[in-house]
Amino acid sequence: MEQSKPQLSRKPRPADWIAAGAVVLVALALLLLPLLVRSEAVTVQILQDGALLYELPLDRDTTVTVGGDYENTIEIHGGAVFVSHATCPGGDCVRSGAIRNAGRSIVCLPNRLEIRIVGASAADVVIETEGVCRPQS
Ligand SMILES: [Zn+2]
Repeated sequence: MEQSKPQLSRKPRPADWIAAGAVVLVALALLLLPLLVRSEAVTVQILQDGALLYELPLDRDTTVTVGGDYENTIEIHGGAVFVSHATCPGGDCVRSGAIRNAGRSIVCLPNRLEIRIVGASAADVVIETEGVCRPQS
């Protein structure tokens, strides 16, 4: 008595392997793409009155002067950004010093100016938070 073997009909065909390979490739691309984009997209945003004036790469040294009620000179240098000169009363924005990690910002309230870094890896933010929040023993 001849009996058909059920596993013959379920043998994978070449088309199945291609489909499986495509799924793996897409999954890998989705995993890797954000890492690549994140590592290259660290930018400095300069906002006044909540409106974006400039968006500049953090790794390119440059100087920007923003007007308004007062004047702020903002420098990007060596992977950090800081206000090098300001005509605002108090000068808190100058005294804030340099920032270099995503999530950090410098604010000049008199000139309604905000300078912030966006797009760095999450690891930098975690390290920063641990340093600040470490309990005293
Ligand atoms: Zn200021």
